[in-house]
Amino acid sequence: MNRLKTFSRGGIHPPDGKATTAGQPIKNAPLPARAVVPFSQHIGAPARSLVEVGQRVEEAQLIGEATGFVSASVHAPIPGTVKEIKSLYLPSGVKTEAAVIELDGAFSRLGKPIAQRDWSDLESDALLAILKEQGVVGQGGATFPSHVKFAVPKGKSCEALLVNAAECEPFLSADHRLMLERTEDLIEGIRMVQRILQPQRTVIGIESNKQNAIDALIPHAKREGIDVVPLKVKYPQGAEKNLVEAVLGREVPAGKLPIEVGAIIANVGTLISVCEAVRDNKPVIERVLTVAGGAIAQPGNIRARVGCTYRDLIEECGGFTEEPVKFISGGPMMGFAFTDLDTPVTKGTSGILALTAKEVNAFTQTSCLSCGFCVNVCPMGLSPTSIFKNVEHERLDEAASLGLDDCVLCGSCAFVCPAHIPLVSAFRAARGRRRRLSARNRG
Ligand code: SF4
Ligand code: SF4
Repeated sequence: MNRLKTFSRGGIHPPDGKATTAGQPIKNAPLPARAVVPFSQHIGAPARSLVEVGQRVEEAQLIGEATGFVSASVHAPIPGTVKEIKSLYLPSGVKTEAAVIELDGAFSRLGKPIAQRDWSDLESDALLAILKEQGVVGQGGATFPSHVKFAVPKGKSCEALLVNAAECEPFLSADHRLMLERTEDLIEGIRMVQRILQPQRTVIGIESNKQNAIDALIPHAKREGIDVVPLKVKYPQGAEKNLVEAVLGREVPAGKLPIEVGAIIANVGTLISVCEAVRDNKPVIERVLTVAGGAIAQPGNIRARVGCTYRDLIEECGGFTEEPVKFISGGPMMGFAFTDLDTPVTKGTSGILALTAKEVNAFTQTSCLSCGFCVNVCPMGLSPTSIFKNVEHERLDEAASLGLDDCVLCGSCAFVCPAHIPLVSAFRAARGRRRRLSARNRG
């Protein structure tokens, strides 16, 4: 019997919560009358605003220019007038400036025939320049600018392009739907990234609970010489280092990126954005995300413009059936709790969850029981309890020496902890403090 591939250390099996959304087609959200467009929707330097209050903008117009090496451009998701430039906090805690655009005027692209670009003669540099121009970033959560990620550093080469189709976070099913509904665009996006990276091998790693997507992909993938590898359902199968180990059997060293072992990973939604950017000359002004959780009346996947509010999308999904006790932006394992329903959708918003009391862990935190459960499930081979004890006493250098920076913030340790210690939020906060301290020390 063919054993499904997976990573070797740790991992958990949380309830997957995908049944309410995975079987339904993606629907289109109404266009927002007002879009709040953050200039920092990616890892790296915020985009520099190119607009002023009172200025008219067209749909897809560049309104924020990438600055510095790691940065991404930002475009207007709707035509209209810039009413305000304001500061806001995103659920991740990032503070950013944002342009508030009020809809007026005609859409220049929506509903019009698309003039497709013939990219058959474009070389790597030209493709990377397009990804930069159109603001493509990783949509699996990390929001790393794609033109930087796909630029292989000198002295390294990409042996394997891994398509991350695991979508292992509970509740989220947007990538699953995209694989079913946009199969050809996904394959075209993969071919574009193959042109950039020239890998010897391309593999789609997909959890085996998406059999219909596996069936849809196989004929297209076969035609292009791409392998489709079904993976065991185990969280966090989609974390980059775990995917590399599962698919290639190689371990990415602590503190290093997958390119160290010849791999570059791209997520499904990102590859469809790559296809749209290159072929359709379309910047990232919309994305598909999952709206789910027990409190949502009609959970589903929805294509929404950047800048529309979480409130709009929840209403589009029928509102609440009962009062939610917790909201999460993203998935329940790695997402961020939020309270403000007027939070705007960004390029990195993979889901909006409204959870009921039954779905939320409402236990009281106690002291560590030294049970070792967290150590057993950590996919990075760390000792979360030891890291936590150092973080708790602000011994950040000791925590770092135990692997604080190698933690992928997957949440597996907190999920199994019988003492309900918020290990991941403590690690995330400690990393932030450490970064700020070292920035201060650098002067
Ligand atoms: S959050 Fe970090 S420490 Fe906890 S299990 Fe995941 S990788 Fe390990
Ligand atoms: S799982 Fe929780 S209680 Fe058990 S050792 Fe880890 S931190 Fe302590």
